Amino acid sequence: MKKFMKGLLATTMVFAMMTSLVGCGGGSEAEAPADETETLVMATNAAFPPYEYYEGEEIVGIDAEVGAAIAEKLGMGFEISDMEFDAIIPAVTSGKASFGMAGMTVTEERMQSVDFSDSYAKGVQVVIVTEDSEITDVDHLFAGEDTHVIGVQTGTTGDLYSTWDLEDEGLATVSRFNKGADAVLALTEGKVDCVVIDNEPAKEFVAANAGLKILETAYAEEDYAICFAKDSELTEKVNGALKELIADGTVQKIIDKYISAE
Ligand code: GLN
Repeated sequence: MKKFMKGLLATTMVFAMMTSLVGCGGGSEAEAPADETETLVMATNAAFPPYEYYEGEEIVGIDAEVGAAIAEKLGMGFEISDMEFDAIIPAVTSGKASFGMAGMTVTEERMQSVDFSDSYAKGVQVVIVTEDSEITDVDHLFAGEDTHVIGVQTGTTGDLYSTWDLEDEGLATVSRFNKGADAVLALTEGKVDCVVIDNEPAKEFVAANAGLKILETAYAEEDYAICFAKDSELTEKVNGALKELIADGTVQKIIDKYISAE
């Protein structure tokens, strides 16, 4: 598990200032909120460009920057914990991570185990095929003429929808991979017929692999949000900071930095 520290220096300085102020002013210990020293640990899966991915040793991307901005606003330390996508919710519910931020879609099913922040971005599930594919639109997958093999990243909404809508109906077989990039590799090798995945990483994977395209019809539209352990005291705080960063345009600025306007 790789960890990445960001914003820690600034946070430490702010905290040092606060501590000295409290010291000089003779304020009681109780005036220094205990959680000011806390480090926010963000659970993510850093294989999801442009939301989170490695640039050398560093995890960068929209979520990495928004997470760091939230921590900075709250005067807290910040650390990213990289793990498989389907390990994020267990890390959050067990308290190993403060929150999960991973281009994660808000779903009814996930709301059984976690609470979500306000949504900070939209996602679209799209279908990647080879340029010469006989799959020309999403409806083709539902037509039942062929049983397709659909590549997905384990535990993602692409996995859940394909499983529920298609595999469970006998219309397809779902082939699951730990990384979206591995599902795309399987497509280039002819091991799967298409990949159902979020549009932004899809664009990056298609740009990086010759002979692939994204179908024009979308599979589903979604909202991305931050997840927390149920009834966590962090939810209101972090969501409050997120709301401010959305309102003052910081979040949009970060998104624009990574996603060029179409
Ligand atoms: N948006 C998708 C989901 O929440 C995929 C997220 C991801 O792979 N990081 O399931």
